[in-house]
Amino acid sequence: MITLRHDLGIVCRRSRTVVLVHGGWALAGAGVGLVAGGLLRTAVLRLSVPAGALQRAACPGCGETFAPWATAGTAREKAGSARRAGERWVGARRLARLAGGRCARCRRRLGPPPAALELATGALLALVAGVVGGRVELVAFGWLAVVGVALAAVDLAVRRLPDRLVLPGYPVVLGALALAAALGGEPARLLRAVAAGLALAGCYLVLLMLRPGQLGAGDLKLSGLLGLALGWLGWPAVLRGTFLAFLLFSLCGLALLATHRVRLRTELPFGPFMLAGALLPLLLRGVT
Ligand SMILES: [Zn+2]
Repeated sequence: MITLRHDLGIVCRRSRTVVLVHGGWALAGAGVGLVAGGLLRTAVLRLSVPAGALQRAACPGCGETFAPWATAGTAREKAGSARRAGERWVGARRLARLAGGRCARCRRRLGPPPAALELATGALLALVAGVVGGRVELVAFGWLAVVGVALAAVDLAVRRLPDRLVLPGYPVVLGALALAAALGGEPARLLRAVAAGLALAGCYLVLLMLRPGQLGAGDLKLSGLLGLALGWLGWPAVLRGTFLAFLLFSLCGLALLATHRVRLRTELPFGPFMLAGALLPLLLRGVT
């Protein structure tokens, strides 16, 4: 049963669960997500390099730097362009051009397709914000949604989950959940989240040792973070999220095999499936 509420929300009652969709928060999430996706494009371009390699700082074609605030070219060009347009506008224009998926100067194709990151981040954050609404947990789950899109993009490109994107999630998610636990008087819930993070990371560590090469250290680091978030939702969500990750990975692998897009030995990135598995229980059941 779905009923329209006076506060622009939709209540959907399915079995014993209630998923609240907060229209205003969804709209705000879409806007913030679009901007965040554009900003993350720079990080995705920089970090889409093989493990151990230096971060990519500039276009391989012409040397134009990815940093939106930095002016490119020689010192003279820098001074000239800074005088002409002002640093702020150079940055804004470069971000807008980067969103087109091409180098701002030589038009070479760079990173994910045009607007893909921006639209994916906007859509995902709209969904998460719509489900979570104006609760402190939105910081934790919103962070996972936004950074998750960037992580998935880097993992798809070079099969890596860079520490620079994964590790900052720990203080952010843990901090937000700790604040939510303090405000809601639910210390046990925070303990459950931490226990789930440790438990999931432990399971991934065992898998990593049993099948080295199938999972990477990046997957292990991400598993602890996702375990924290899923643990906040409850133990069933931890199980559901983990099961969904492996299910989606297997289905996708089989589909790619059947259509001859990959071979049996091809290593597929697992990060996008872990992230999808972690966000699906939230989107399907909401925060209770
Ligand atoms: Zn270029």
